[in-house]
Amino acid sequence: MLRKLQLLKRRFSLLPLLVSVCLLIVLTGQKGWSKGDRVSLPPLKPHPLPPTLVSWHSDNQEDYFDHLQSHPVGALIWYDFPVKVYLQSPPLNLSPSAAKAFQQWVEAGKKAIAAWNSYIPLQETDNPEKADILIYRQPPPLGRLRVNPETGLFDLPRAAAAITTVQFYLQDSRLRHKMIIRVNPHQNLDYLESNITHELGHALGIWGHSPNPEDIMYHAHTRDIPTISFRDINTLKRVYQQPTRLGWKLPENSS
Ligand SMILES: [Zn+2]
Repeated sequence: MLRKLQLLKRRFSLLPLLVSVCLLIVLTGQKGWSKGDRVSLPPLKPHPLPPTLVSWHSDNQEDYFDHLQSHPVGALIWYDFPVKVYLQSPPLNLSPSAAKAFQQWVEAGKKAIAAWNSYIPLQETDNPEKADILIYRQPPPLGRLRVNPETGLFDLPRAAAAITTVQFYLQDSRLRHKMIIRVNPHQNLDYLESNITHELGHALGIWGHSPNPEDIMYHAHTRDIPTISFRDINTLKRVYQQPTRLGWKLPENSS
């Protein structure tokens, strides 16, 4: 349920992009561009598969690719490997109990990174500015207040367990992206690793959910905590075969 809400939230956050084939540059400091410029997006083209996915073969061909959402930039995939991942480290001066809880979160994050590393080459970095994927230990932002139609009172939405958002920027006239994962520290330790693994699946390009509770990308918590399945990887491979505007140069006449 929580993950359904996250997905809805993501859909609404993408609406501005859906109504236009142009990207409004919101980042300053890009060479030759200034805030407010409109640029045409690069054409859709596929990238070569990473070797880890070229060599992936499963006897069972099932996947849930048709359940994923499409995005105006095409597939939200990576093309320079290894993908750099920043995992937030504990701040100094934590109490012993807070430091222990933070360390458990870090361990869960490292296991999640190791789990996906077999399929998409990942490398940890301690420099957030150089990272493609950033994982923070902080509650996702609360949604908007909603009026309950029966009582007329406001419902305050609960903070989600985790959320992944995508942001875009230009570098050397190429459209690039970063994925930001926020993982709520206030949750059951049993679910922490699978939650981070699930969000990392979104950050690697699986932009949607599996209908099968045995897959890591299932939309809700299950009693039997899932791990990455052959359906998850079959789906991931199909995603990486799709065309994207990411990583390609902007058209010459885009100013
Ligand atoms: Zn999800």
